[in-house]
Amino acid sequence: MARPLLHRIRRAHPGAEVRAVGPAALLGLLFSERTFDGAEVWPARRASGRRPPAADRERLVAAMRAWRPDAALVLPFSFSSAWFAHRTGATIRVGYAHEMRSPLLTHALRRPARGERHLSQEYLALGEPIGAGPRSSEDPLPPLIPPPEAERAAEGLIARAAPDAHRFAVMAPRSAYGPAREWPAERFVALACRMIERGLAVIVCGTAAERETCGRIAAAAGPGAASLAGETDLPTLAALVRRATVAVCNDSGLAHLAGAVGAATVTLYGSTSSAWTAALGPRVRVLQHPPVCSPCFRRTCRIGYRCLTGLGLDEVDGACREAGA
Ligand code: SF4
Repeated sequence: MARPLLHRIRRAHPGAEVRAVGPAALLGLLFSERTFDGAEVWPARRASGRRPPAADRERLVAAMRAWRPDAALVLPFSFSSAWFAHRTGATIRVGYAHEMRSPLLTHALRRPARGERHLSQEYLALGEPIGAGPRSSEDPLPPLIPPPEAERAAEGLIARAAPDAHRFAVMAPRSAYGPAREWPAERFVALACRMIERGLAVIVCGTAAERETCGRIAAAAGPGAASLAGETDLPTLAALVRRATVAVCNDSGLAHLAGAVGAATVTLYGSTSSAWTAALGPRVRVLQHPPVCSPCFRRTCRIGYRCLTGLGLDEVDGACREAGA
């Protein structure tokens, strides 16, 4: 979602030194695009859920203060991110007014209602105060190119998971957000069976925490399907999905990755708003049948997940066929 802004800043200020602060995995994925010159890792919570040591964040603040930035664009909506920007000493601090953080910002923009504008457009608007806002004719967003070492790692994984297949589909049947973003697992299985019958292999992807479900779906689909959940970092996953005939994803990180590398991507939407957060990419197809209660942005549903069950197998399969799978 931030890529259009990063490219826009680079085009508007080619001589500026840009540093990005964020999660290590995302910085590693985006660094090869050269839209920023330096990457500072935002201290993450521990696997146990505990906060990172305060000293880690203090070190980051000290490093940024020493660098003396002219401007800080605050993409997250949290108070802590605006507080961090304030402490860097940046002269200009741009973000959305939220969580009582406006006094920390020099430009506190009114936050539009969710879905009024696409999230990438909301981020692009943050560039306006520094002369890098959206233009009427934006240059097209270039595809994300994974680094060569990720391409090699992906080749090895594909050779193992789909050794005899010339074509394969990627499926991402889970979402970290919760079941209100997950198309039913048995439909993923049925879709995988249809694709295997048509001569494609199916590679099921997910995080280490999603290994069990992904493995179960691959096993239920039978020979021709395999799970690589937990075996890929983000650059490798990007390289892998770039080679897929189609990627079928819930509203999850993999949908965004697949769209960004230019893969044919079929995204299935449940409780959230595709108008707000649909994956970006030239070959992204969004399927959503919002009932009157949508979007509710809930993680679970008390009335039977109608938004997801309304997405039929034939419809999703039809979108995959149109993508060539
Ligand atoms: S309340 Fe409606 S939109 Fe929300 S999860 Fe349930 S069916 Fe979907």
